[in-house]
Amino acid sequence: MSRDQMRELQGKRLHKIVEYVYHHVPFYRSRLQEMDLTPDDIRTIDDIVKLPFTTKKDLRDNYPFGLQAAPQNEIIRIHASSGTTGNPTIVGYTRRDIGVWTECMARCLTAYGVTRNDIVSVAYGYGLFTGGLGAHNGVEMVGASVVPASTGNTEKHVRLIRDLGITGICCTPSYALYLAETMDKMGIAKDQIHLRVGAFGAEPWTENMRTEIQERLGLKGYNIYGLSEVMGPSVSYECSEQHGSHINEDHFYPEIIDPVTLKPLPAGETGELVFTTLTKEGMPVLRYRTRDLCSLLPGECPCGRTNVRMSPIYGRSDDMLIIRGINVFPSQVESVVLSMEEFAPRYMLVVDRVNNLDTLQVQVELRQEYFTATLDTPAAIEELSKKLEAKLRSVLSIGAKVQLKAPGTIERSQGKSAHVIDKRQLK
Ligand code: ADP
Ligand code: ZN
Repeated sequence: MSRDQMRELQGKRLHKIVEYVYHHVPFYRSRLQEMDLTPDDIRTIDDIVKLPFTTKKDLRDNYPFGLQAAPQNEIIRIHASSGTTGNPTIVGYTRRDIGVWTECMARCLTAYGVTRNDIVSVAYGYGLFTGGLGAHNGVEMVGASVVPASTGNTEKHVRLIRDLGITGICCTPSYALYLAETMDKMGIAKDQIHLRVGAFGAEPWTENMRTEIQERLGLKGYNIYGLSEVMGPSVSYECSEQHGSHINEDHFYPEIIDPVTLKPLPAGETGELVFTTLTKEGMPVLRYRTRDLCSLLPGECPCGRTNVRMSPIYGRSDDMLIIRGINVFPSQVESVVLSMEEFAPRYMLVVDRVNNLDTLQVQVELRQEYFTATLDTPAAIEELSKKLEAKLRSVLSIGAKVQLKAPGTIERSQGKSAHVIDKRQLK
Protein backbone atom coordinates (compact mmCIF):
# COMPACT_ATOMS: atom_id res chain seq x y z
CA MET A 1 0.00 0.00 0.00
CA SER A 2 1.32 3.47 -0.85
CA ARG A 3 1.78 6.03 1.95
CA ASP A 4 -1.22 7.99 0.66
CA GLN A 5 -3.45 4.94 0.58
CA MET A 6 -2.31 3.99 4.08
CA ARG A 7 -3.06 7.45 5.47
CA GLU A 8 -6.47 7.43 3.88
CA LEU A 9 -7.26 4.04 5.38
CA GLN A 10 -5.99 5.16 8.78
CA GLY A 11 -8.16 8.31 8.61
CA LYS A 12 -11.29 6.30 7.82
CA ARG A 13 -10.55 3.82 10.57
CA LEU A 14 -9.79 6.57 13.07
CA HIS A 15 -13.13 8.24 12.44
CA LYS A 16 -14.89 4.92 12.93
CA ILE A 17 -13.08 4.04 16.14
CA VAL A 18 -13.73 7.48 17.65
CA GLU A 19 -17.40 7.16 16.82
CA TYR A 20 -17.41 3.67 18.34
CA VAL A 21 -15.81 4.65 21.66
CA TYR A 22 -17.96 7.80 21.82
CA HIS A 23 -21.03 5.61 21.87
CA HIS A 24 -19.70 2.65 23.85
CA VAL A 25 -17.21 3.91 26.43
CA PRO A 26 -18.56 6.54 28.86
CA PHE A 27 -14.96 7.39 29.84
CA TYR A 28 -14.07 8.48 26.30
CA ARG A 29 -17.42 10.11 25.70
CA SER A 30 -16.96 12.44 28.66
CA ARG A 31 -13.30 13.11 27.76
CA LEU A 32 -14.33 14.12 24.25
CA GLN A 33 -17.25 16.19 25.52
CA GLU A 34 -14.96 18.02 27.93
CA MET A 35 -12.79 18.93 24.94
CA ASP A 36 -15.82 19.93 22.92
CA LEU A 37 -15.18 17.20 20.37
CA THR A 38 -17.58 14.93 18.51
CA PRO A 39 -16.65 12.09 16.16
CA ASP A 40 -17.41 14.44 13.25
CA ASP A 41 -14.38 16.52 14.17
CA ILE A 42 -12.13 13.55 13.38
CA ARG A 43 -12.07 13.04 9.63
CA THR A 44 -8.48 12.43 8.58
CA ILE A 45 -5.52 10.88 10.36
CA ASP A 46 -4.08 14.37 10.92
CA ASP A 47 -7.02 15.10 13.23
CA ILE A 48 -5.61 12.59 15.71
CA VAL A 49 -3.71 15.36 17.53
CA LYS A 50 -7.06 16.76 18.72
CA LEU A 51 -7.80 13.59 20.72
CA PRO A 52 -7.08 13.07 24.42
CA PHE A 53 -4.33 10.76 25.64
CA THR A 54 -4.94 7.54 27.57
CA THR A 55 -2.56 6.42 30.34
CA LYS A 56 -2.01 3.28 32.37
CA LYS A 57 -3.53 5.19 35.29
CA ASP A 58 -6.76 5.63 33.31
CA LEU A 59 -6.89 1.86 32.81
CA ARG A 60 -6.20 1.25 36.47
CA ASP A 61 -8.79 3.80 37.64
CA ASN A 62 -11.37 2.08 35.48
CA TYR A 63 -10.48 -1.44 36.62
CA PRO A 64 -11.59 -3.98 35.58
CA PHE A 65 -13.89 -3.36 32.61
CA GLY A 66 -14.42 0.42 32.56
CA LEU A 67 -12.69 0.95 29.21
CA GLN A 68 -14.17 -2.08 27.55
CA ALA A 69 -16.27 -1.15 24.55
CA ALA A 70 -17.76 -4.49 23.53
CA PRO A 71 -20.47 -6.19 25.61
CA GLN A 72 -19.19 -9.02 27.80
CA ASN A 73 -20.87 -11.70 25.70
CA GLU A 74 -18.71 -10.71 22.74
CA ILE A 75 -15.45 -10.98 24.67
CA ILE A 76 -13.81 -14.36 24.05
CA ARG A 77 -10.44 -13.86 25.80
CA ILE A 78 -9.17 -11.86 28.75
CA HIS A 79 -5.50 -11.13 29.46
CA ALA A 80 -3.99 -9.14 32.32
CA SER A 81 -0.78 -7.18 32.51
CA SER A 82 0.94 -5.94 35.63
CA GLY A 83 -0.33 -2.70 37.07
CA THR A 84 1.80 -0.23 39.00
CA THR A 85 0.25 -0.82 42.38
CA GLY A 86 -2.64 -3.11 43.11
CA ASN A 87 -4.83 -3.51 40.08
CA PRO A 88 -3.52 -5.21 36.97
CA THR A 89 -4.65 -3.97 33.56
CA ILE A 90 -7.42 -6.14 32.16
CA VAL A 91 -7.71 -6.47 28.38
CA GLY A 92 -10.68 -8.19 26.75
CA TYR A 93 -10.60 -9.35 23.12
CA THR A 94 -13.52 -10.04 20.78
CA ARG A 95 -13.30 -12.82 18.22
CA ARG A 96 -12.40 -10.25 15.59
CA ASP A 97 -9.64 -8.84 17.82
CA ILE A 98 -8.10 -12.28 18.20
CA GLY A 99 -8.30 -12.63 14.41
CA VAL A 100 -6.48 -9.32 13.84
CA TRP A 101 -3.87 -10.17 16.47
CA THR A 102 -3.30 -13.59 14.91
CA GLU A 103 -2.86 -12.04 11.48
CA CYS A 104 -0.43 -9.43 12.80
CA MET A 105 1.57 -12.17 14.48
CA ALA A 106 1.56 -14.18 11.25
CA ARG A 107 2.91 -11.12 9.42
CA CYS A 108 5.81 -10.98 11.89
CA LEU A 109 6.65 -14.65 11.50
CA THR A 110 6.42 -14.42 7.72
CA ALA A 111 8.83 -11.47 7.74
CA TYR A 112 11.25 -13.67 9.71
CA GLY A 113 10.97 -16.31 6.99
CA VAL A 114 8.89 -18.81 8.95
CA THR A 115 6.77 -21.09 6.74
CA ARG A 116 4.60 -24.18 7.11
CA ASN A 117 7.76 -26.25 6.85
CA ASP A 118 8.97 -24.99 10.22
CA ILE A 119 8.51 -26.38 13.72
CA VAL A 120 8.30 -23.48 16.13
CA SER A 121 8.41 -23.65 19.91
CA VAL A 122 6.76 -20.87 21.87
CA ALA A 123 8.66 -20.27 25.10
CA TYR A 124 6.92 -17.14 26.21
CA GLY A 125 4.82 -17.78 29.30
CA TYR A 126 1.33 -19.12 28.55
CA GLY A 127 -1.24 -17.54 30.81
CA LEU A 128 -2.40 -14.04 31.62
CA PHE A 129 0.72 -12.71 29.87
CA THR A 130 -0.02 -12.07 26.18
CA GLY A 131 3.27 -13.54 24.91
CA GLY A 132 2.49 -17.25 24.90
CA LEU A 133 -0.99 -17.46 23.41
CA GLY A 134 -0.33 -14.48 21.12
CA ALA A 135 2.67 -16.08 19.44
CA HIS A 136 0.97 -19.48 19.45
CA ASN A 137 -1.99 -18.35 17.31
CA GLY A 138 0.33 -16.70 14.79
CA VAL A 139 2.44 -19.83 14.33
CA GLU A 140 -0.71 -21.86 13.70
CA MET A 141 -1.96 -19.33 11.16
CA VAL A 142 1.29 -19.53 9.21
CA GLY A 143 0.81 -23.29 9.22
CA ALA A 144 4.05 -24.20 10.96
CA SER A 145 3.87 -26.82 13.72
CA VAL A 146 3.65 -25.09 17.07
CA VAL A 147 5.25 -26.62 20.18
CA PRO A 148 3.69 -24.85 23.19
CA ALA A 149 6.73 -25.26 25.42
CA SER A 150 6.05 -22.20 27.61
CA THR A 151 8.71 -21.25 30.16
CA GLY A 152 10.30 -23.43 32.83
CA ASN A 153 11.37 -27.04 32.42
CA THR A 154 14.26 -25.83 30.30
CA GLU A 155 16.18 -29.13 30.05
CA LYS A 156 13.13 -30.88 28.66
CA HIS A 157 12.69 -28.04 26.20
CA VAL A 158 16.30 -28.32 25.04
CA ARG A 159 15.84 -32.05 24.45
CA LEU A 160 12.69 -31.33 22.40
CA ILE A 161 14.57 -28.73 20.34
CA ARG A 162 17.14 -31.40 19.52
CA ASP A 163 14.87 -34.42 19.12
CA LEU A 164 12.02 -32.80 17.15
CA GLY A 165 14.33 -30.76 14.96
CA ILE A 166 12.68 -27.52 16.06
CA THR A 167 13.62 -24.72 13.63
CA GLY A 168 12.06 -21.61 15.19
CA ILE A 169 11.66 -20.26 18.68
CA CYS A 170 9.71 -17.38 20.24
CA CYS A 171 10.93 -16.24 23.67
CA THR A 172 12.52 -13.37 25.56
CA PRO A 173 16.13 -12.68 24.56
CA SER A 174 17.27 -13.43 28.08
CA TYR A 175 15.53 -16.80 28.00
CA ALA A 176 17.28 -17.55 24.70
CA LEU A 177 20.60 -17.03 26.45
CA TYR A 178 19.45 -19.18 29.32
CA LEU A 179 18.62 -21.94 26.83
CA ALA A 180 22.16 -21.68 25.45
CA GLU A 181 23.51 -21.89 28.98
CA THR A 182 21.40 -24.98 29.65
CA MET A 183 22.57 -26.62 26.42
CA ASP A 184 26.17 -26.11 27.51
CA LYS A 185 25.45 -27.71 30.87
CA MET A 186 23.76 -30.68 29.20
CA GLY A 187 26.67 -31.07 26.80
CA ILE A 188 24.54 -30.43 23.71
CA ALA A 189 26.44 -28.66 20.94
CA LYS A 190 25.09 -26.10 18.49
CA ASP A 191 25.44 -28.50 15.56
CA GLN A 192 23.11 -31.03 17.23
CA ILE A 193 20.14 -28.66 16.93
CA HIS A 194 18.41 -27.09 13.92
CA LEU A 195 17.18 -23.73 15.17
CA ARG A 196 17.37 -21.12 12.42
CA VAL A 197 14.95 -18.35 13.44
CA GLY A 198 14.25 -16.66 16.77
CA ALA A 199 11.51 -14.09 17.55
CA PHE A 200 12.77 -12.24 20.59
CA GLY A 201 10.96 -9.52 22.50
CA ALA A 202 8.88 -8.51 25.53
CA GLU A 203 11.97 -6.80 26.97
CA PRO A 204 14.74 -4.52 25.70
CA TRP A 205 17.86 -6.15 24.25
CA THR A 206 21.05 -5.00 22.63
CA GLU A 207 23.02 -5.78 19.47
CA ASN A 208 25.59 -7.46 21.70
CA MET A 209 22.94 -9.81 23.01
CA ARG A 210 21.79 -10.48 19.46
CA THR A 211 25.30 -11.45 18.41
CA GLU A 212 25.75 -13.71 21.42
CA ILE A 213 22.39 -15.47 21.00
CA GLN A 214 22.93 -15.97 17.26
CA GLU A 215 26.40 -17.30 17.85
CA ARG A 216 25.42 -19.71 20.62
CA LEU A 217 22.16 -21.04 19.19
CA GLY A 218 23.14 -20.89 15.52
CA LEU A 219 20.05 -18.95 14.45
CA LYS A 220 19.08 -15.50 13.21
CA GLY A 221 17.36 -13.42 15.89
CA TYR A 222 14.60 -10.94 15.05
CA ASN A 223 13.02 -8.30 17.23
CA ILE A 224 9.31 -8.39 18.06
CA TYR A 225 7.58 -5.66 20.03
CA GLY A 226 4.18 -5.25 21.62
CA LEU A 227 2.21 -4.44 24.71
CA SER A 228 -0.98 -5.82 26.18
CA GLU A 229 -2.83 -2.52 26.33
CA VAL A 230 -2.56 -2.20 22.56
CA MET A 231 -2.76 -5.92 21.65
CA GLY A 232 0.21 -8.02 22.78
CA PRO A 233 3.30 -9.10 20.82
CA SER A 234 3.13 -8.26 17.06
CA VAL A 235 2.61 -4.51 17.21
CA SER A 236 5.92 -4.30 15.30
CA TYR A 237 8.53 -6.66 13.86
CA GLU A 238 11.87 -6.65 12.12
CA CYS A 239 12.15 -7.65 8.48
CA SER A 240 15.14 -9.24 6.75
CA GLU A 241 16.86 -5.82 6.65
CA GLN A 242 16.87 -5.68 10.48
CA HIS A 243 16.94 -1.91 10.42
CA GLY A 244 14.10 -0.93 12.72
CA SER A 245 10.79 -2.73 13.24
CA HIS A 246 7.83 -2.33 10.87
CA ILE A 247 4.67 -1.29 12.71
CA ASN A 248 1.37 -2.95 11.82
CA GLU A 249 0.11 0.59 11.36
CA ASP A 250 -3.12 -0.32 9.60
CA HIS A 251 -4.20 -1.49 13.07
CA PHE A 252 -1.97 0.45 15.51
CA TYR A 253 -1.34 4.09 14.63
CA PRO A 254 1.95 5.36 16.08
CA GLU A 255 2.91 8.87 17.17
CA ILE A 256 6.01 10.17 18.91
CA ILE A 257 5.45 12.86 21.52
CA ASP A 258 7.57 14.87 23.90
CA PRO A 259 6.86 13.15 27.24
CA VAL A 260 6.95 16.49 29.07
CA THR A 261 5.04 18.88 26.81
CA LEU A 262 2.96 16.06 25.23
CA LYS A 263 3.38 17.77 21.86
CA PRO A 264 3.91 15.59 18.76
CA LEU A 265 7.53 15.57 17.61
CA PRO A 266 8.70 15.91 13.98
CA ALA A 267 9.45 12.69 12.07
CA GLY A 268 12.69 11.05 13.08
CA GLU A 269 12.95 12.58 16.54
CA THR A 270 13.14 10.51 19.69
CA GLY A 271 10.36 10.65 22.24
CA GLU A 272 7.55 8.66 23.79
CA LEU A 273 5.69 6.21 21.60
CA VAL A 274 1.90 6.59 21.57
CA PHE A 275 -0.56 4.18 19.95
CA THR A 276 -4.17 4.46 18.83
CA THR A 277 -5.85 1.16 18.03
CA LEU A 278 -7.65 1.64 14.72
CA THR A 279 -9.69 -1.55 14.58
CA LYS A 280 -9.95 -2.95 18.08
CA GLU A 281 -13.40 -3.83 19.42
CA GLY A 282 -12.83 -5.23 22.91
CA MET A 283 -10.79 -2.47 24.51
CA PRO A 284 -9.83 0.20 21.97
CA VAL A 285 -7.43 2.89 23.19
CA LEU A 286 -7.00 6.44 21.91
CA ARG A 287 -3.45 7.80 22.01
CA TYR A 288 -2.22 5.34 24.64
CA ARG A 289 1.05 6.51 26.18
CA THR A 290 3.34 3.48 26.17
CA ARG A 291 6.14 5.24 28.12
CA ASP A 292 8.55 3.53 25.72
CA LEU A 293 11.13 5.90 24.23
CA CYS A 294 12.11 5.48 20.57
CA SER A 295 11.87 7.17 17.18
CA LEU A 296 10.02 6.49 13.92
CA LEU A 297 12.34 5.90 11.00
CA PRO A 298 11.37 7.83 7.90
CA GLY A 299 12.03 6.55 4.40
CA GLU A 300 11.44 3.39 2.43
CA CYS A 301 12.69 0.01 3.53
CA PRO A 302 14.67 -2.00 0.96
CA CYS A 303 12.52 -5.05 1.84
CA GLY A 304 9.59 -3.44 0.00
CA ARG A 305 7.24 -3.13 2.98
CA THR A 306 5.78 0.36 3.11
CA ASN A 307 4.64 0.37 6.73
CA VAL A 308 6.62 2.70 8.96
CA ARG A 309 9.50 1.45 11.12
CA MET A 310 10.35 2.22 14.73
CA SER A 311 13.82 2.20 16.25
CA PRO A 312 14.62 -0.19 19.12
CA ILE A 313 13.26 0.94 22.49
CA TYR A 314 16.08 2.68 24.25
CA GLY A 315 14.44 3.50 27.54
CA ARG A 316 11.30 4.37 29.45
CA SER A 317 9.81 7.68 30.51
CA ASP A 318 8.71 6.10 33.79
CA ASP A 319 10.49 3.85 36.29
CA MET A 320 9.15 0.50 35.07
CA LEU A 321 11.68 -2.34 35.07
CA ILE A 322 11.38 -5.48 33.00
CA ILE A 323 12.68 -8.43 34.95
CA ARG A 324 12.55 -11.84 33.30
CA GLY A 325 9.99 -10.41 30.91
CA ILE A 326 7.69 -9.27 33.73
CA ASN A 327 6.92 -5.58 34.26
CA VAL A 328 7.94 -4.49 37.74
CA PHE A 329 7.35 -1.06 39.27
CA PRO A 330 9.27 0.00 42.40
CA SER A 331 5.96 1.31 43.73
CA GLN A 332 4.65 -2.27 43.87
CA VAL A 333 7.48 -3.19 46.22
CA GLU A 334 6.81 -0.07 48.23
CA SER A 335 3.14 -0.96 48.73
CA VAL A 336 4.12 -4.39 50.09
CA VAL A 337 6.81 -2.99 52.38
CA LEU A 338 4.42 -0.37 53.74
CA SER A 339 1.77 -3.00 54.42
CA MET A 340 4.01 -4.74 56.99
CA GLU A 341 4.56 -3.02 60.30
CA GLU A 342 8.03 -4.53 60.77
CA PHE A 343 9.55 -2.34 58.04
CA ALA A 344 10.53 1.28 57.65
CA PRO A 345 9.56 2.80 54.29
CA ARG A 346 13.13 2.42 53.06
CA TYR A 347 13.88 -0.12 50.41
CA MET A 348 16.09 -0.75 47.40
CA LEU A 349 15.61 -3.02 44.39
CA VAL A 350 18.88 -4.51 43.17
CA VAL A 351 18.51 -6.03 39.71
CA ASP A 352 21.27 -8.10 38.20
CA ARG A 353 21.84 -10.74 35.55
CA VAL A 354 23.51 -13.94 36.69
CA ASN A 355 24.13 -16.70 34.13
CA ASN A 356 21.85 -14.79 31.75
CA LEU A 357 18.93 -14.85 34.16
CA ASP A 358 17.66 -11.69 35.76
CA THR A 359 17.73 -11.62 39.53
CA LEU A 360 15.92 -9.30 41.90
CA GLN A 361 16.98 -8.59 45.43
CA VAL A 362 14.88 -6.38 47.69
CA GLN A 363 16.72 -4.73 50.55
CA VAL A 364 14.52 -3.33 53.26
CA GLU A 365 15.17 -1.62 56.57
CA LEU A 366 13.66 -2.93 59.77
CA ARG A 367 12.05 -0.49 62.17
CA GLN A 368 14.13 0.06 65.30
CA GLU A 369 11.78 -1.77 67.65
CA TYR A 370 11.70 -4.87 65.40
CA PHE A 371 15.40 -4.68 64.74
CA THR A 372 16.23 -5.01 68.43
CA ALA A 373 13.71 -7.81 68.92
CA THR A 374 14.35 -9.74 65.71
CA LEU A 375 17.82 -9.59 64.40
CA ASP A 376 19.52 -11.53 67.16
CA THR A 377 17.71 -14.75 66.32
CA PRO A 378 18.52 -16.24 62.92
CA ALA A 379 15.22 -18.12 62.87
CA ALA A 380 13.27 -14.88 63.24
CA ILE A 381 15.23 -13.23 60.43
CA GLU A 382 14.55 -16.22 58.24
CA GLU A 383 10.86 -16.22 59.06
CA LEU A 384 10.41 -12.50 58.42
CA SER A 385 12.34 -12.65 55.13
CA LYS A 386 10.21 -15.58 53.95
CA LYS A 387 7.02 -13.74 54.86
CA LEU A 388 8.06 -10.69 52.82
CA GLU A 389 9.27 -12.87 49.93
CA ALA A 390 5.89 -14.61 49.76
CA LYS A 391 4.03 -11.29 49.69
CA LEU A 392 6.34 -9.88 47.04
CA ARG A 393 5.90 -12.95 44.88
CA SER A 394 2.13 -12.67 44.94
CA VAL A 395 2.21 -8.98 43.98
CA LEU A 396 5.07 -9.02 41.45
CA SER A 397 4.53 -12.50 39.95
CA ILE A 398 8.28 -13.10 40.13
CA GLY A 399 10.50 -14.27 42.95
CA ALA A 400 12.65 -11.77 44.84
CA LYS A 401 15.34 -12.44 47.41
CA VAL A 402 14.90 -10.35 50.54
CA GLN A 403 17.75 -8.86 52.52
CA LEU A 404 16.86 -7.28 55.87
CA LYS A 405 18.89 -4.26 56.83
CA ALA A 406 19.54 -2.42 60.07
CA PRO A 407 17.76 0.91 60.53
CA GLY A 408 19.46 3.77 58.72
CA THR A 409 21.71 1.62 56.51
CA ILE A 410 20.02 2.05 53.13
CA GLU A 411 21.41 5.13 51.51
CA ARG A 412 18.98 7.90 50.71
CA SER A 413 19.55 9.71 47.45
CA GLN A 414 17.52 12.36 45.70
CA GLY A 415 17.67 10.98 42.17
CA LYS A 416 14.83 9.52 40.10
CA SER A 417 15.89 5.92 40.57
CA ALA A 418 16.52 6.28 44.26
CA HIS A 419 14.94 2.87 44.73
CA VAL A 420 16.68 0.94 41.99
CA ILE A 421 20.18 -0.30 41.30
CA ASP A 422 20.19 -1.98 37.90
CA LYS A 423 23.47 -3.75 37.24
CA ARG A 424 22.43 -5.41 33.99
CA GLN A 425 23.88 -2.80 31.61
CA LEU A 426 21.28 -3.22 28.92
CA LYS A 427 22.30 -0.12 27.04
P1 ADP B 1 3.83 -7.97 26.50
O1 ADP B 1 2.80 -8.94 26.89
O2 ADP B 1 3.88 -7.72 25.02
O3 ADP B 1 5.20 -8.14 27.09
P2 ADP B 1 3.40 -6.04 28.50
O4 ADP B 1 2.28 -5.07 28.56
O5 ADP B 1 3.58 -7.02 29.57
O6 ADP B 1 3.24 -6.66 27.08
O7 ADP B 1 4.78 -5.26 28.36
C1 ADP B 1 4.95 -4.35 27.31
C2 ADP B 1 6.26 -3.63 27.46
O8 ADP B 1 7.34 -4.53 27.29
C3 ADP B 1 6.44 -2.58 26.41
O9 ADP B 1 5.78 -1.38 26.71
C4 ADP B 1 7.95 -2.44 26.38
O10 ADP B 1 8.40 -1.61 27.44
C5 ADP B 1 8.42 -3.86 26.65
N1 ADP B 1 8.76 -4.54 25.41
C6 ADP B 1 8.04 -5.44 24.72
N2 ADP B 1 8.69 -5.85 23.62
C7 ADP B 1 9.86 -5.20 23.59
C8 ADP B 1 10.99 -5.18 22.69
N3 ADP B 1 11.04 -5.94 21.60
N4 ADP B 1 12.01 -4.34 22.97
C9 ADP B 1 11.99 -3.55 24.07
N5 ADP B 1 10.97 -3.54 24.96
C10 ADP B 1 9.91 -4.35 24.73
ZN1 ZN C 1 11.69 -3.83 5.87
